[in-house]
Amino acid sequence: MWNSALAKVDLAAIRDNLEVVRSLCPRSRVMAMVKANAYGHGLIPVARALWAADGLAVARLQEAMRLRKAGISSRILLLATYLDSTALSLCSKHEIDVTAHDQVSISNISEHARYNPLRVWLKLDTGMHRAGVSPAECERAVRLLLGHPGVEELVLMTHLSCADDLGSAMTEHQLSCYLRWRDAFPNVRASIANSAALISRPETHMDWVRPGLMLYGENPLGGQVNVPLRPAMTLNARIIAVRQLATGESVGYNMRWTSKRVSRIGLVGIGYGDGYPRHAPNGTPVWINGQLVPLVGQVSMDSLTVDLTDCDRVDVGDLATLWGENLSATVVAKYAGTIPYQLFTSLQTRVSREYVGDKSDVELHRRLSPNSALVN
Ligand SMILES: *Cc1c(COP(=O)(O)O)cnc(C)c1O
Repeated sequence: MWNSALAKVDLAAIRDNLEVVRSLCPRSRVMAMVKANAYGHGLIPVARALWAADGLAVARLQEAMRLRKAGISSRILLLATYLDSTALSLCSKHEIDVTAHDQVSISNISEHARYNPLRVWLKLDTGMHRAGVSPAECERAVRLLLGHPGVEELVLMTHLSCADDLGSAMTEHQLSCYLRWRDAFPNVRASIANSAALISRPETHMDWVRPGLMLYGENPLGGQVNVPLRPAMTLNARIIAVRQLATGESVGYNMRWTSKRVSRIGLVGIGYGDGYPRHAPNGTPVWINGQLVPLVGQVSMDSLTVDLTDCDRVDVGDLATLWGENLSATVVAKYAGTIPYQLFTSLQTRVSREYVGDKSDVELHRRLSPNSALVN
């Protein structure tokens, strides 16, 4: 039995969400984002579940290497990062696509590729001003890389800063800037769309889409556009104590919440030391025994407190769901003044992970022990 908080990850949901991506952009190839430990869902199990994607993208060389060491042979893209000759050697050796995002990376890549071929994604800064070559530098960079004998394939990529804002003038500006360059180089592959653009702007689909959040079942556009995604993660913890409070008694650090009636308070075994947001305010919903109850009092390192007064029956040992199927991480994130991306990637290692819905594992297990019944 598990005693820590537990993140249950349904790999079938991730596969289904990939199918949703396929149905939205049937003509594009899919570079599935598994950076930051697959948005906190677990790099290797998620990468295995996404075997049907056309590629997997990470932002750290260590994560790309972990994928290769686990025997994953999918195409891998390393997003903009510092690339010295050691890093570039590993990328050629392990067939990891690299990102050229400024003059230093372009010259390091072209120097290295003279002897060791590489597939290159050139990032064009169309207005986000984070990474990427400027439009003025674009033509020279494309010509250099396209004509380079060691560059096996070139993809021109850009990233939208406001794709989750449906009426954004910035998106229009970025798209027209991007299209000017893409039309000048019809041989170069094109990639723009993150989840939000993939869902809301079919004109951004092009050769490669780069979905992240939606694969894990959250829609970055919220209710504005409906997409049949399934949340992959359910974060559970146990109720470790239930106590009665008189009117006017306060709970937790700094007395942040005080009861206005006789109250029943549940202590839940998860806190900011597990990755639950400390800044979640009073009233943040928690799902317990089929209903939503409010968080009350300051979140502690190892626990948080909820008001169970309006619950029919809750016992020590019952499960609390912090987010999952019945309570979306996007909703919890809104209460806490953050985004589901941060909730997922903040989960700490002491949170146990349990994977369900992995067909290949089920099959493997059956082959190894044909008489065992697998509960899944
Ligand atoms: C993380 C990332 C994405 C995916 O964004 P989502 O909003 O999670 O879909 C796409 N492209 C780049 C360059 C990224 O860094």
